[in-house]
Amino acid sequence: MKAVVYKGPENLALEEREVPEPAPGEVLIETKAVGICGSDVSIYYGNFKKIEPPLTIGHEGGGVVRELGEGVDWPKEGTRVAVSPLDYCGKCEYCIDARYSLCENLKTIGMIEREGEYAEYFVAPARNCHVIPESLEWRQAALIDTLAGPVATIERRNIPVNSGVAVFGAGPAGLFFARLAKLKGAGEVYLMGHNDDRLELGRSYGADRIINTHDTDPVETILEFTNGKGTETVIEAAGSEQASSQGLSSLAKGGTMMVYGIVESGPVAVSMEDIALDEYELFGIADNTHGYNQAIELIGAGEVEVEPLITHQFSLSELPDAFSRHLMRDKKEGYIKGVVEL
Ligand SMILES: [Zn+2]
Ligand SMILES: [Zn+2]
Repeated sequence: MKAVVYKGPENLALEEREVPEPAPGEVLIETKAVGICGSDVSIYYGNFKKIEPPLTIGHEGGGVVRELGEGVDWPKEGTRVAVSPLDYCGKCEYCIDARYSLCENLKTIGMIEREGEYAEYFVAPARNCHVIPESLEWRQAALIDTLAGPVATIERRNIPVNSGVAVFGAGPAGLFFARLAKLKGAGEVYLMGHNDDRLELGRSYGADRIINTHDTDPVETILEFTNGKGTETVIEAAGSEQASSQGLSSLAKGGTMMVYGIVESGPVAVSMEDIALDEYELFGIADNTHGYNQAIELIGAGEVEVEPLITHQFSLSELPDAFSRHLMRDKKEGYIKGVVEL
């Protein structure tokens, strides 16, 4: 079978590989579509240190179950599934508490110690399979993983009805956060980013006010519109140092900051004094397993649109070239989200 293999920084190759055998508890899946994640871009440029090349990457996909490993009786052959990527042990103290993203023995499909989905077939634990309805197109199913993280985040800490929400980052996750906040009954939703096209798209995802942080100070603007109060919820979905500190400064007293983006540039200086005196809650999350089923429902019901985000579609063989011309990193050609369809 064909597979796209990460061989080291800026080295991705289309290779011929053996079709894998499902181990006990696993299933073999014929890949149909896989979303291209920001993590894939981090991997490509050597910024994700936990990966050990060579490894087939890709972790936001789905397909049709073709073969069952020993001891598996669900999902049956022929079932259409989306696959959550965290392969947790199920035995450590965190897994027993259903906090799979904290598993002591965590592997991740296409990232850590497990072959990924940019291949004609891949294997996954049966318990990672989530059935998707016939009505969902494969390219739409490739965005389930991206939506599942924001869903899991907002489910963990609710958004008070009519309260203000500031979302930093206008990528796919940020746009989904804006939409989910509105579905939860949020009041004014502010969306921050530095790309006018994406910000404009944010309006259709529920953002009441869009702020381009290149030319406007978001903290000043948010404080102005909230009469100096700030927003009850801030969501950091940009993964940037600047957004992190601006986010904290935009928070209302007693507010919650959801830290979803991953700041790879290093530690961020924050005022511990403000956190204590203004009783802020800082809440980090790396889970998306718990958001999968709801994400499937939301996309299937049309509550969250995914089509406007899919700007690029590739075949497996086109993928290495798309990475090597920095299409995703530099967001060329209006890039928002790419999908590999087989
Ligand atoms: Zn991802
Ligand atoms: Zn575990």
